[in-house]
Amino acid sequence: MITVKDLNKSFGDLHVLKNIHMDVERGEVVVVIGPSGSGKTTLLRSLNILETPEEGEITIGEQRMDFSKPLKKKQIVEFRKQTGMVFQNHNLFPHFTALENVMEGPVTVQKISKAKARERAKDILTKVGLGEKLDAYPHQLSGGQQQRVGIARALATGVEVILFDEPTSALDPELVGDVLDVMKELAEEGMTMVVVTHEMSFAEEVADRVIFMDQGKVVEEGTPEQIFQQTKEPRTQQFLNRIR
Ligand code: ADP
Repeated sequence: MITVKDLNKSFGDLHVLKNIHMDVERGEVVVVIGPSGSGKTTLLRSLNILETPEEGEITIGEQRMDFSKPLKKKQIVEFRKQTGMVFQNHNLFPHFTALENVMEGPVTVQKISKAKARERAKDILTKVGLGEKLDAYPHQLSGGQQQRVGIARALATGVEVILFDEPTSALDPELVGDVLDVMKELAEEGMTMVVVTHEMSFAEEVADRVIFMDQGKVVEEGTPEQIFQQTKEPRTQQFLNRIR
């Protein structure tokens, strides 16, 4: 579903992604972990071309982006349509209700009729446990509920891949569980997911594969068991010791 080859990205003199390779199968849940500043978010944002790497290739589905060539705007727009993104701070429109937030993508990007988009948005919000909050505005929702609207919004356009950028790290601890439960459900339904998170228990329980990054490189990848219990990599060990 996703192939990343030789990806390099710098911010000025700072080389943030160094020859990244990554493959994600259809239906796979890949969790990216690593110390702060190791490039996890930049990698995730590159998958949605919110950052533009200087070198390398990303293929998602049938579409390939070769960053050594100039990219056309239309090509980027089409590429982005394949993935939904869930941010740390949900990025909801404050003056739209939950329902309107979820309808927005299908209506403006996919040009679906409002009636159809409304029906679909209702279904998706019900699925993430917010069937009673369709007409609530973001400020009337808890952080966890807002984040679930964010997930519903990412799902609304029928994408095959969802990218999660620390979706629970801005939440109060008691609200984290509900968001992780929705993510688990999506994983069980076969959604392809790439998740940057500090929730190691989620990684251990839900990930098919864990990628450990440090200083812009993929240091190690493997099953949760291989990474969390059997790693021989000193840098992985050191990271895990620090957070456990
Ligand atoms: P992580 O998600 O692992 O914490 P990031 O991908 O957010 O790491 O950041 C990697 C490095 O790139 C950090 O040193 C960060 O300060 C830097 N960085 C991230 N975004 C920008 C930006 N827009 N401009 C300059 N430096 C950035």
